[in-house]
Amino acid sequence: MIFDHQLKTDRRQDLIDITALVEKDLEEASIGEGLCVIFVTHTTAALTINENADPDVPRDMFVKLTQLVPENDNYRHLEGNSDAHILSTLIGCSLTIPVEHGKLLLGTWQGIFFVELDGPRQRRFKVKLQAD
Ligand code: ZN
Repeated sequence: MIFDHQLKTDRRQDLIDITALVEKDLEEASIGEGLCVIFVTHTTAALTINENADPDVPRDMFVKLTQLVPENDNYRHLEGNSDAHILSTLIGCSLTIPVEHGKLLLGTWQGIFFVELDGPRQRRFKVKLQAD
């Protein structure tokens, strides 16, 4: 079963918690044991799992990511968003989460995030739920 989601982002870089959306898909698919695969169909966005409690975590993450991959660094790509392409590759475009007893096997502090790297834009991501 594949669920298609749309998302409107508000900033150039942002972490958007999509955990509740994925849990809703899982409830609808009613899978006991299996796998949840989340996939983003963009080259300037990504997906990650990280802490969803302290808002300073995403803030610190973007501060450090921007130091590692600056927005402007004599890139050749004419669209002017090479930093977003590079970060998308570093962070990754898919996640796999085990499903056990009908729940995502996430740790207490783990949340699933859509990572906007070149917004604001209209975005999409897919959630595939596969029973064992
Ligand atoms: Zn580009």
